[in-house]
Amino acid sequence: DLGTAAVRRASDVPPLVDADEFPPAQHFIGGEFVGATSGSSLDVVDPCSEEVLAQVPDGTAEDVDRAVAAAVAAKADWARVVPKDRSELLHAIADRLAERTELLVNLESANTGKPIRVAQDDVAGTIDTFRFMAGALRATTSMAAGDYVADHLSVIRREPVGVVGVVTPWNYPLMMAAWKIAPVLAAGNTLVIKPSEQTPLTTLKFAELVGDLLPAGVLNVVTGRGSAVGARLSEHPDVDMVALTGSVNSGRAVARGAAETLKRVHLELGGKAPVVIFPDADLAAAASALRVAGYWNSGQECGAACRVLVHESIAEEFVDRLVAEVRDLVVGEPLAGEEVEIGPLVSKAHFDRVLGYLERAEEEGARAAVGGGALDGPGYFVAPTVLVDVPDGAEISREEVFGPVVTVETFRDEDEAVRRANEVPFGLSASVWTENARRSHDIAARLDAGTVWVNSHLVLANEVPWGGFKGSGYGRDLSIYALDDYSRTKHVMHNHGR
Ligand code: NAD
Repeated sequence: DLGTAAVRRASDVPPLVDADEFPPAQHFIGGEFVGATSGSSLDVVDPCSEEVLAQVPDGTAEDVDRAVAAAVAAKADWARVVPKDRSELLHAIADRLAERTELLVNLESANTGKPIRVAQDDVAGTIDTFRFMAGALRATTSMAAGDYVADHLSVIRREPVGVVGVVTPWNYPLMMAAWKIAPVLAAGNTLVIKPSEQTPLTTLKFAELVGDLLPAGVLNVVTGRGSAVGARLSEHPDVDMVALTGSVNSGRAVARGAAETLKRVHLELGGKAPVVIFPDADLAAAASALRVAGYWNSGQECGAACRVLVHESIAEEFVDRLVAEVRDLVVGEPLAGEEVEIGPLVSKAHFDRVLGYLERAEEEGARAAVGGGALDGPGYFVAPTVLVDVPDGAEISREEVFGPVVTVETFRDEDEAVRRANEVPFGLSASVWTENARRSHDIAARLDAGTVWVNSHLVLANEVPWGGFKGSGYGRDLSIYALDDYSRTKHVMHNHGR
């Protein structure tokens, strides 16, 4: 029973983006688009049609070295720009993005297959990230001063780290780029960014749209694979810090690569968010929130509400409510209408990976209450799925699936709920559903997660920090905490004694 079953297709409509609106298929280095040092390129595939949309350079270590040299050359002047002027530049970037919202939405949807409503949310969030950082940088760059030793004036300088290497994933290509680029620039750093090889188009378009606003070399984009471009950025002696959003394995590789030069590392890695539902919760509200939070962006979301732990006394009622919501989800191509809520998975490799998880879950004894397999092609569409009867310790309840799959398990009391919620190696986010204030405060305090929602899930704002504990990494995106992460602190002490 695949539930929603048919994929809504768009027929006889023009493509989302005209060929002449694609960004140049080149690296962006030192303020201009430049050819790659090697002639080989990577295919960018439309996950709805499985056809090649574009090709981008398969970047090399030499390309990275050129980009880093440009970022190094630009760093001293950029660091001297006063906060007000940096802030105005970030606002100008936001304005430029806002003018081209429709194109960015369409390009993001074309590359990822994501529904228009999801891409609209991404682009709106991206613009707000630049606006938030433009404001926040003016309030946080001030220096504290005082005499803490007799006749000695201490000045605390907040300085940029220098050149930041940034590596981003494919699930929210433009938004994840913005979550790094905005605070990195706001804090006065220059950067080289490597977008995911599967979704480089909006990052290149970003450079094309805003490149002229920034001094040459402040922003550089090198496309290519993680094993070449990402690895060189991690190891490069002139890169002062490397920030990655990606999988745990890529995080390990980046941290290992950075170890030799002891550069700072900022890692936003995977998640496996538990959703802990107590008998006194509003079950209708929880089910309707999970319809969004479990399946947003086809579940390709590091904070996805993917692991329900529900009290055994209400499990049956909750599953019925959730299945009814999930059956109602509309799956389709971006151009198949505004009601489309769920798109395809991003690639063939990821589609196979998610289907592999579903097969092994069934072998281990789990049962699909709805969904459970692929929908008709072309395209990498998987039916929104709810898995029940998940055995204790099953792979599907421990590992990050990153697809439209929610598992449901039961617990008996608060201690068991907390123990089970914390037993996975990830610690990015979690939610607690209860009307009892004591219980919500207590459970929230005991959960090992960088974000805990109470009676909500996946709601974010640029003012609040986002990042994980344990295997989900360290460092924070968004908020003034991100500005802090991309700054270094210097103490200067003046002896003014006579
Ligand atoms: P991925 O790790 O496969 O790729 C992420 C980026 O890392 C890509 O640009 C890739 O080319 C690069 N990379 C791969 N190997 C590398 C290496 N050895 N050195 C340097 N860079 C390397 O992840 P993905 O599949 O693109 O994205 C999905 C993952 O990202 C999921 O695990 C998800 O949870 C995570 N994610 C986390 C957050 C968060 O905020 N914590 C947000 C979005 C996605």
